[in-house]
Amino acid sequence: METVQNSKQAINLENKYGAHNYHPLPVVLAKGEGVYVWDVEGKKYFDFLSAYSAVNQGHCHPRIVQALKDQAETLTLTSRAFYNDVLGMYEKYMTEYFGFDKILPMNTGAEAVETAIKICRKWAYERKGIPENEAKIIVCEDNFHGRTTTIISFSNDPVAKKNFGPYTKGFIKIPYNDIDALKAALAEENVAGFLVEPIQGEAGVYVPDSGYLTEADRLCKENNVLFIADEVQTGIARTGKLLACDHENVKPDVLILGKAVSGGVYPVSAVLANDPIMEVIQPGQHGSTFGGNPLAAKVAIAALEVIKDEKLAENAQRLGEIFRERMSAFIETTDLITLVRGKGLLNAIVINDTEDSSTAWDICMALKENGLLAKPTHGNIIRFAPPLVMTEEQLHECCDIIEKTIREFAA
Ligand code: PMP
Repeated sequence: METVQNSKQAINLENKYGAHNYHPLPVVLAKGEGVYVWDVEGKKYFDFLSAYSAVNQGHCHPRIVQALKDQAETLTLTSRAFYNDVLGMYEKYMTEYFGFDKILPMNTGAEAVETAIKICRKWAYERKGIPENEAKIIVCEDNFHGRTTTIISFSNDPVAKKNFGPYTKGFIKIPYNDIDALKAALAEENVAGFLVEPIQGEAGVYVPDSGYLTEADRLCKENNVLFIADEVQTGIARTGKLLACDHENVKPDVLILGKAVSGGVYPVSAVLANDPIMEVIQPGQHGSTFGGNPLAAKVAIAALEVIKDEKLAENAQRLGEIFRERMSAFIETTDLITLVRGKGLLNAIVINDTEDSSTAWDICMALKENGLLAKPTHGNIIRFAPPLVMTEEQLHECCDIIEKTIREFAA
């Protein structure tokens, strides 16, 4: 296979032959190690996005890569037509790790969300007696759960949704972080579940009030409605605990995981629940050729061992506090930034401009020049989510770059 000679060539190729379904920052990455990535020209950057929180363990973590290599040389795919000798061990590992009876393995975050929706609906018909086709799932405004046809049906992002209808029915949308709205929705007929991100990542790292998840979970239990936590972005130590729900000791009925389950080395996602819920799924009713393949299983075990052995949740918690302290002090000195918010190493800064401005993008371009890669969630919001293997010294170096860039930008 030919290799590209420079960034321009790579971008031109993508523009010519790839569907235009993304709007990437113009940087072409060719190598990654830990918290660093390098472009085709050899320029080194701090990765401050971690592939939307998938690379929590750092790029090309040697233990995870070794697991991939070992398994790739042994057995990669059987489909679920047969058993494989890794999946059962992985399922035991995952259920014990997260404290559930059962796991249903999938590949991507959106697939796992779809899986959770199917489980919830089937549970509602078979265990709650909701009349067929009438089940409703409560979701939140400004949610992001993926891009399949059903999931975009309850998005309120016009770009993601417009002209992709007809949409899937059966969702009630309420404002995020609003317990009264949840109470009102739960009072409607035939409610089966409440699907929620413990922190809304794509919405701009929106952290709900402390106590929101606890009360939402309590209300769900009171109403015999499943509390379904989408921890695809917030899970796996990103927010300073293994799960963002752990900050409030909330145990969801259905847990959705993706991204960093495999440290970004291989697509792996999962849905976890206890027996009374998961038992509604019977052979032939759901699956995927690649879901639960031995390569995914081996990689995910290694990736989750790294989270524990390297104490990455603790590191994210500690560095997150340092980051927000530094940014809070910095925003006192500039009018351009109005707010820093987040938990652990999932943070965002809000710029003193409108959502449809290009300021966040322009700042990200300037950050790129100065050796740090981040991406806006909106015209005036930049998300900062570095790999959790970052050291305190590296974090200070990154804060220096961010402050210098914004000072230059504001000048
Ligand atoms: N849920 C949440 C909360 C997410 O942040 C994302 C991805 N950003 C997804 C689901 C979808 O995951 P994937 O892109 O792997 O389908």
